[in-house]
Amino acid sequence: MTQPNGERLTLSSTFRFTCRPGIACFTHCCRDVNIVLTPGDVFRLKQRLQIPSHEFLDRYTVTLISRHSGLPVVLLKMQEDEAKLCPFVTPEGCAVYQDRPWACRMYPLDFDTDLDSYRIIADPSRCRGLQEGPEIVVEDWLDEQGALKPHPVDRMYNEATRRLEFPRDRVSNPEVARMYFLAAYDLDRFRHFVLGTRFLQIFDLPAEVVEGIKQDDMELARLAALWLKFGFADKNALPLRDEIFDPSLR
Ligand code: SF4
Ligand code: SF4
Repeated sequence: MTQPNGERLTLSSTFRFTCRPGIACFTHCCRDVNIVLTPGDVFRLKQRLQIPSHEFLDRYTVTLISRHSGLPVVLLKMQEDEAKLCPFVTPEGCAVYQDRPWACRMYPLDFDTDLDSYRIIADPSRCRGLQEGPEIVVEDWLDEQGALKPHPVDRMYNEATRRLEFPRDRVSNPEVARMYFLAAYDLDRFRHFVLGTRFLQIFDLPAEVVEGIKQDDMELARLAALWLKFGFADKNALPLRDEIFDPSLR
């Protein structure tokens, strides 16, 4: 039986679903849809497309500021014609399937953090897979889609911002929101920021870390997450140079 849209599901719940080329609605859900990109999504997609983060963000995304948190929210930009197709959809399916965004991996499910449960968000009258598929266990489905655990980059950013509670900690300073965007989404510009400003005169980073971030995006993301943690929650997250505490040396 198809689960009613919105019913709460746990990892051990079952639902009926399949999605495959040949199904009547194939790729119909890849248009005119709001897909929020996580930092990990942007990380994967810009690597997949082999373009710098700022080029990816300029070409494929729009950024809004969340009223709830005051922080940037990055959305995948649909094409601007009448069909409003996702820029990555093709007649054969998703052109970036291995690196598709988290929300696409989850679909037709979504995770409700407040209720700590999953729910079906697709309309069963439009998503044929909810009518035609076999009964599957939520956990197995998510595992198959690579959506059971967050991407390592998202884990680092989640940890960095773990102590923030909204709306209590709502960010009202646009400069803070801009720095968050730089560190969480625009990693290639963050690299220039670290190497081209006083950053390394303020923070005492081991030489191997400085060398690492020049080449390695994962090292760079690790530093960016620690910098956010330093700014938002924990002044011990990054070591400061002794000199910056000594006014006579400035
Ligand atoms: S990224 Fe891929 S799966 Fe997601 S909407 Fe676009 S084409 Fe569909
Ligand atoms: S509407 Fe449902 S079955 Fe059809 S392509 Fe999208 S997820 Fe798959």
